Amino acid sequence: MHKILYDITKFSILDYEDHLSAILWFGGCNMRCPYCHNADIVFGKNSIQKEEAINFLKSRIGKLEAVVFSGGECTLYKELPTLAKEIKEFGFKIKIDTNGTNPALLKEMVERNLVDFISLDFKAPKEKYISITSNKEFSSFLETLKYLIQKGQDFEVRTTVHTDILDENDINSIIKELHSFGFKGKYFIQNYMHQDKILGDLKEQKRALNRDKIISNLININFRNF
Ligand code: SF4
Repeated sequence: MHKILYDITKFSILDYEDHLSAILWFGGCNMRCPYCHNADIVFGKNSIQKEEAINFLKSRIGKLEAVVFSGGECTLYKELPTLAKEIKEFGFKIKIDTNGTNPALLKEMVERNLVDFISLDFKAPKEKYISITSNKEFSSFLETLKYLIQKGQDFEVRTTVHTDILDENDINSIIKELHSFGFKGKYFIQNYMHQDKILGDLKEQKRALNRDKIISNLININFRNF
């Protein structure tokens, strides 16, 4: 598995709400979600040197507010806390996009104040987790989720929906689970947008998720791309 710094997006207004940010993309992933449109990143087909990223960020001090760590799965990169510390010393906030399967590293980053906001993927309910992600670490994901809630960390949860593989019952089961753990943040249900180059062989959805069947009174639900 490749664990490399893959690329930089030098400017984004979309990836960290209310922040001008740069995105560092980390190559390699421990999942194989069929709807993933970042295949080149997952397989680490490019790489940049850390110094290139650091020099670029230095040149943006006072111009950008934040740096987003995305991928791929950035928490596979064991040097992440060290890199985050270096970047925070420039005055940037840090957001992490993660599938949550490395609770130890995420805990370290939270405890050391090395992360300001986390976007956590809740890929699927337990019974569909392996079939959708090809990953067996649902218990690690749950450990991350419970820890972030208990710690009061600022974070959001999101699920990408393609109705061939997830339906209204699955989403409702995720909502009930989040509610039972006491999750108070925003939950984003993201509608799959078809692209030709994805990891699996999914086609366009035959039907959209029926939003009227989604439980709306337990947690803060937000629909994206519907
Ligand atoms: S969508 Fe899945 S396979 Fe793609 S980067 Fe995210 S966790 Fe990895």
